[in-house]
Amino acid sequence: MRKKIVAGNWKMNNDLSETEELISQLKLQMVKDPEATVMVAPSFTSLYPAFQALKDTPIVVAAQNMNAAKSGAYTGEVSALMLKSIGINTVILGHSERRAQFKESNEMLAEKVKTAIDNEMDVIFCFGEELNERKAGKHFDVVETQLKESLFQLPKSAWKNIILAYEPVWAIGTGETASPEQAQEIHAHVRSLLEKNVGKEVAENTSILYGGSVKPNNASEIFAKDDVDGGLIGGASLNAVDFVKIVNAF
Ligand code: PGA
Repeated sequence: MRKKIVAGNWKMNNDLSETEELISQLKLQMVKDPEATVMVAPSFTSLYPAFQALKDTPIVVAAQNMNAAKSGAYTGEVSALMLKSIGINTVILGHSERRAQFKESNEMLAEKVKTAIDNEMDVIFCFGEELNERKAGKHFDVVETQLKESLFQLPKSAWKNIILAYEPVWAIGTGETASPEQAQEIHAHVRSLLEKNVGKEVAENTSILYGGSVKPNNASEIFAKDDVDGGLIGGASLNAVDFVKIVNAF
């Protein structure tokens, strides 16, 4: 059975003391055995203290990005080995903000995913269409191309480490959520693409999260859809009360 997952993407928010405060709030408020696997992705400067603070809990700490190269002259970048050396085994790749602001292409993301898999890391792979693409009715094709160019070359064995996150760009940080039906429609499409390109078993076992303005008041409706296995939460993950409500929304 595929995993239910709720992941908080803290983006470029929270300095060290704010991170520590949010984590202590989460520890106080999180139910003991949530139905979902819970993950949080602090900024690089807070990753190690976050990992230390959460290592006795089931909450997984993830990085928001990493470089594809092993090491070398890549000023300002962080490698898989650096992350692993501080206990981080999960990384978000392909977030739309990275694609748009840092020009990460499907091809670059394929390399990053390969590095993560070679290092036995779990990947939360984000994809999704922009507003003009949806308006033009191209959303099915756009997500197919994103998955095809970054993921479908992976060996079957790699898929146990891949978590997908459908994030329509027009719904991120805008307060505008895809309707549960719109999310379900794309998630079902993605599952059929997985079946066609990778195989039935992978299609059935890969978690597909929805991201884009998930809040405590809409999470249950979205998570109730058959092919939605959880959420990648931005804004609402910065507030422990809201985030825990979302975790409990299954
Ligand atoms: P949002 O962000 O929940 O603030 O819309 C989601 C994301 O970017 O992962």
